[in-house]
Parts: sequence; structure tokens; C-alpha cells
Amino acid sequence: MAESQRPHRRKVLVLGSTGSIGHSALKVAKDIPDRMEIVGLAAHRSVETIVKQVTETGVKQVAITDPEAAKQARQLLSPEVTIFDGSEGLMELVRATEADMVLVAIVGTAGLAPALEAIELGKDLAVASKEILVMAGEAVMTAAQRKGVWILPVDSEHNAIFQCLEHRDPAHIRRLLLTASGGPFRKSTSQDLEQVTVEQALKHPTWNMGRKITIDSATMFNKGLEMIEARWLFGVPMSRVDVVVHPQSIVHSMVEFIDSSVIAQLSHSDMCFPIQYAVTWPDRVSNTLPPLDFAKLASLHFEAPREDVFPALRLARHAGEKGGTLPAVMNAANEVVVEAFLHEQIKFSDIWRTVEQVMDKHENIEHPSLEAIIDADAWARRTAETLSVR
Ligand code: NDP
Repeated sequence: MAESQRPHRRKVLVLGSTGSIGHSALKVAKDIPDRMEIVGLAAHRSVETIVKQVTETGVKQVAITDPEAAKQARQLLSPEVTIFDGSEGLMELVRATEADMVLVAIVGTAGLAPALEAIELGKDLAVASKEILVMAGEAVMTAAQRKGVWILPVDSEHNAIFQCLEHRDPAHIRRLLLTASGGPFRKSTSQDLEQVTVEQALKHPTWNMGRKITIDSATMFNKGLEMIEARWLFGVPMSRVDVVVHPQSIVHSMVEFIDSSVIAQLSHSDMCFPIQYAVTWPDRVSNTLPPLDFAKLASLHFEAPREDVFPALRLARHAGEKGGTLPAVMNAANEVVVEAFLHEQIKFSDIWRTVEQVMDKHENIEHPSLEAIIDADAWARRTAETLSVR
């Protein structure tokens, strides 16, 4: 759909509504009701939250992938509300709602199939779930181009780059500069990282997010995944995607152009900013979010990332450069080991060690079919589980 033909008031289906991004999306819809209407919600098993959200938004269609949770929700909600269940429930919801945009905010890779379905149906995507672009970036972007739908980035860094790039010739880009807060261990040594507890890793200095992405920020796999995500979203080679550590999380990312000028996007660290822009783009819409007060911002600090202490960056660059099934393997192995770490089954440093071992064992397939990607994802999960058993 051409930019100018995008509807003024967007009907948005939120997949992953009970999570951190989902909550922010509902806040945005309340803030700009003339521009955003929520028409469907989906979650895995947070019954109480989704029931509350249904009442709040008045939606008539939801999906709850856990069948037991769906059963409970049926007892609590009016029969007027259709509840689709199981993993197929997400697909049914995408087909059933009148959404013109689907916000994919499901943690992990479960959002991939509904995202592809939404594209096939001609719905624009607002993508928070970076995992789906890491896993199948080529397939998602190709399908979107074929169907003429927009992929709007919600991840704050990519949303920032999207804003910096608007209407500029891609040939003029020298580098995309993804900013990273550095996480809770920005100043730690490799030795310190051997002793990290789950509680310490879950304390992010600037962002309040779901558990998986918070651990990914602590290992810097989050930034690694974002490098690959950027490569697909903006069609640049990995060699032109760089990371700059910026602890204040005010500059959300930057673009350096061939004339050495840099354009940056700044705001407070609140995901409502990028969610709103993905929904209202290409328009800017006034809201209740606080502006920056430069007199109060004491300083903005930048430093180089430490790849020796955070090997995730090196592993992600390697996966992004090789392409094929390797990024999906890295992502799936990381998902498994993060879960194992959260259950205190492995050490913090085992996260990248195990991911690297799984990547080393993998026989990469170039330009894979979706089936090959799904097989590689499953193989990586099995291999990571075996390697994580102590
Ligand atoms: P949360 O863990 O807070 O929420 C995850 C959401 O996904 C919940 O609604 C959860 O439902 C749902 N979900 C989990 N598994 C399934 C499944 N199998 N089927 C259907 N729904 C499922 O995650 P976040 O909101 O933090 O992150 C969501 C995505 O957005 C991630 O990919 C993350 O990387 C990305 N992102 C997040 C940012 C943030 O600030 N939080 C910033 C940028 C990107 P339930 O509650 O029922 O389990």
C-alpha cells in the first residue's frame, strides 16, 4: 500500500498483548484513540491479564495459545468474544480480524508463522519480535515486497534508523550505528561474568522489558540479534552495521552517511515512542509522552563495545555474515540456553559458550527454504538442550 493510502485510524492486532511491548501498545492506543484502534489480542497463557485487556479494549476476537488457559478464559469472558486456541489459534486470529496492521510482539519465534500469514493477507507488520527477522529475514522481507506491505520496525534502535533514513537514498548510507546501553555489566570483566546471578542479570539499567530480552541485553546477544535484524530491514551488508555503547539510552541509533554527516534520533527510553511512530507513520501525532529536557540531560556518553568480554557480538556478526541457516541456529540455541540460565541450570557465561558450540557443529545451508530454517531451528534447540545438561 502506498504511504499516502495508509488508513488514518489504524486497526491493529496485537500478538503478545500481555507482555511488556503489548502493555505499551495498549497505552499508545489509549493515548491516540483517533489514530489507533486495537481489534484483536493474543497471548500464551496470562489469562487474568488478557481478560482484563479484553474488557478494557472491547475486542471481540482473541487467541490464547495454551489450550488450558483458553478454557479458563472462556469461563471468564462473554460468549460474544471468540477465543482461538493452540498455535493454529494465532493464524486463525490473523485471518479473522479486520486488522490492517499486525504488531508482532511475541517473544521468541512463535510469531513467525502468523507474521507470514499477515503478509500474505496484505496486512502491514509492526515488528517487535526481532527473532523472526533474525531467523527468516530474507523470507519475511521478500514476501513483504511481493505483497506490497510495509514492515515497520518497533525495536527502538531500528525505529530510530527508520526515522533517520526516511526518503534518503540507500546508496548514501555509510554505516548504521546501533546504540547499546551496555546492560548491567558494562564495566565488568570476563572474570566477573563467571559469577553473575539471575537476579543481577535481570536488573537492566535503563529499560524495563521482558525476561528473555533482559538477559539478552546482559549478554549483548540482544545487540547481536539487532545487528542481523538491521541487515535485513535496511538491506545493508553486515559490514556496514556497527554498535556504539551509549549508557543513557537517549540516542536510540544513528546513521552515518557517505559525506560523514550523522543523523540520530533521540527520546526518553519508553517503547511507546517507537510503537506510536510505527502505527502513525508517515505522520507525527501529538501525544502525552514527555519531551527531552536538554538542560537536565547532564551528558551523553559513547564508547566502543568490548567484544572480548561480550563474545555475543562476534558470534552474531559471524552468523549475519555467513547468513543461510546460521542466524536461525544462533537464535534458537540462545533461546534454549537463556531459559536454562533463568532456571539456574547453567552459568551466565555458558550462554555464549554453548551457543558457539552449537554454531560450530552446524552445517550451514545457504539461501534456505522456510522448511530448512524451521529444521535448523529444531536441530539447534535439541543440540543446545543436550549441551546444557549438566
Ligand atoms: P514479554 O516476555 O514481556 O512478553 C511476551 C509476550 O509473548 C506475552 O504476551 C506472552 O504471552 C507472549 N507469548 C510467549 N510465547 C508465546 C507463544 N508461544 N504464543 C503466543 N504468545 C506467546 O516480552 P517483551 O514484550 O519484552 O518482548 C516481546 C518481543 O519484543 C521480543 O521478541 C523482544 O525481543 C521484542 N522487543 C522487546 C522490547 C521491550 O522493551 N520489551 C524492545 C524491543 C524489542 P503470556 O504473557 O501469556 O506468556
